[in-house]
Amino acid sequence: MGFSKNKLEEYRRRGFGEVPNKYVCQDCVNNTEWKEQIRQMATNQSRQKCSYGDNRLATIPLDKFISHCIEFINANYDRVWEDWGIKPDEETNKYPCTTWDTWDLVHDIIANKAGIGHEELLKDIAKAIMSEQDTIWCEHDVFSK
Ligand SMILES: [Zn+2]
Repeated sequence: MGFSKNKLEEYRRRGFGEVPNKYVCQDCVNNTEWKEQIRQMATNQSRQKCSYGDNRLATIPLDKFISHCIEFINANYDRVWEDWGIKPDEETNKYPCTTWDTWDLVHDIIANKAGIGHEELLKDIAKAIMSEQDTIWCEHDVFSK
């Protein structure tokens, strides 16, 4: 997975939200792979301070980081209704598979995968992705378990 500008534009066209004018550094995540990707993308040219910490590391714009999160979601999760046509049970209102709303997906899955402990960063990611409105997510292999 890389940080692709075209991908980001594609996501925007599909309705992902405006991203706040903020910046992320490698210290914002604990996942080694993601850290390294931020480190490689970050240039000292911009010299924008990290929006979520006090250190002086090079940063990348938050929207690039969010596009990376969206790529991760798209690679591992589907929209339970739009992709699978699965509805909640009419009586119990429960889905027949494990599901997440966007807020939970960001706060459970993305937070764990990337190793993000900063609540404001998680909120900003969730807000950007939540312009997908009421999307409920499930795993790709929803029926194979
Ligand atoms: Zn940071």
